[in-house]
Amino acid sequence: MSTELSPLTILQEHWGHQAFRPGQEEIINSVLNGKDTLALLPTGGGKSICFQVPALARPGICIVVSPLIALMKDQVENLRKRGLRAEAIYAGMSHQEIDHALDNCVYGRNVKFLYVSPERLLTELFQVRVRKMNVGLLAVDEAHCLSQWGYDFRPPYLRIAELRTLLPESIPVIALTATATAQVAADIVEKLEFRPGFGVFRQSFARPKLSYSVLHTEDKMRRLLEVLRGVGPNKTGIVYARTRRQTEDTAAFLQQHKFPAAAYHAGLAPERRTKVQQDWIEDRTRVIVATNAFGMGIDKPDVRLVAHLDAPDTLEAYYQEAGRAGRDGQYAFAVVLAGPSDADEARRRTTQAFPPLDTVRRVYQALANYSRTAVGGGELAAFDFDIQQFAETYRIRAVDAHNSLRILAREGFIQVNEAVNTPARVHLIMGHQDLYAFQVANAQHDQLIKALLRLHGGELFVGFQAISENSLATHLRRSVTEVRQQLRYLHTAGILHYQARQES
Ligand code: ADP
Repeated sequence: MSTELSPLTILQEHWGHQAFRPGQEEIINSVLNGKDTLALLPTGGGKSICFQVPALARPGICIVVSPLIALMKDQVENLRKRGLRAEAIYAGMSHQEIDHALDNCVYGRNVKFLYVSPERLLTELFQVRVRKMNVGLLAVDEAHCLSQWGYDFRPPYLRIAELRTLLPESIPVIALTATATAQVAADIVEKLEFRPGFGVFRQSFARPKLSYSVLHTEDKMRRLLEVLRGVGPNKTGIVYARTRRQTEDTAAFLQQHKFPAAAYHAGLAPERRTKVQQDWIEDRTRVIVATNAFGMGIDKPDVRLVAHLDAPDTLEAYYQEAGRAGRDGQYAFAVVLAGPSDADEARRRTTQAFPPLDTVRRVYQALANYSRTAVGGGELAAFDFDIQQFAETYRIRAVDAHNSLRILAREGFIQVNEAVNTPARVHLIMGHQDLYAFQVANAQHDQLIKALLRLHGGELFVGFQAISENSLATHLRRSVTEVRQQLRYLHTAGILHYQARQES
């Protein structure tokens, strides 16, 4: 491939797109300048182009680490359709098939892409062959999978840095994700061992044409039917439910009411899952009722509705799931159906999953102590750490200590390297007073979201309304400045679209 072709020419010639989308060109140029690059683009923002175009502009193969077989197959097929040579290796292929694919990459001319699952990177077969390949670029797709604090952690992702040591130092890595949190971004940069001078590019995660609403209802099934009818005939939707049983029951209910619906969950046989997914992608089924096992890597642009029968555990997960609606840039709807007992249920689950704040605070203080006494450091020390021993010393249940560490790391108070249940390296990076701020901040966001929903009156499809910051502030008994700050935060986190306007 000639290195003289400009990225735009490559985009036009191979993909037939006329122009880059916001952010794509800057990301591509950063890679072409040899920099390690982190690209944070919302779902549907066009991440693939960001590594595929520079791969074509540079000599050599682009190795793409990707977490899902379906995703790999899809991309390989797409590239081949454009006349580009791509190979993939993943679990389930025979030794011979893998051997053949790797041979093509070592000896075959013009193979431009090698897709590989993170698990395969660790095999000796792969490590021996990759040294013989002329690699030009390393791309890490769905890079949030390497953060222990993200919602989709895959341990083998942590070994990608090892692969880098097998490749010439000059080869840049590009990491891509639709995750917006700063903690996960920092984690990616650290775990992939980005070289100094790296580039981080973040597109706005706000989705102005995606309406988020919560509907309070005593009868979720009836309300779901109304919502589906409201969205219009023959429109595509995803309904998320918490349990497998619920997906089956809901799909059956929708079928009874003449909606072509099917259930999808991890308990189905692989062939069944593929069929359900394919029927939905090709519009034979309109509504897929799924657990959160469904979604990553699904590129169906015309999803008009994502409805949740139960709210997911984190806002981040909600944003990912809801974000599967409207990838074509047209108006779309994200609706949470909330029942009378949901708030209590959510509270119960959170209480079970997380130790009380007092315990978190105790663990944090104990850490500071531990750092001072056992390690002789001050409050800002990095030290090796045995969680079992720590828990015994301070009479904290190991599971509480473990969960507290997770929370503290997730909220950015400490850094923990390696798995937390083996001797870990802990780095205290903030003082005690921040822990109190953390409690306050979380409570405030919660209140703000509740107030927003109340102001919206739980009405369907009201997400594009203008709201007054003043009324919100009065409602919450907080200053307008505070409310504005929180709205900005929620905007950055992709929870709502916020545009400040002068109030008269
Ligand atoms: P992501 O992985 O960020 O969710 P994809 O890479 O799958 O997104 O791209 C989403 C869709 O946008 C694809 O159908 C892709 O062909 C299209 N797309 C990407 N970049 C452009 C562009 N510059 N112009 C037009 N369409 C684009």
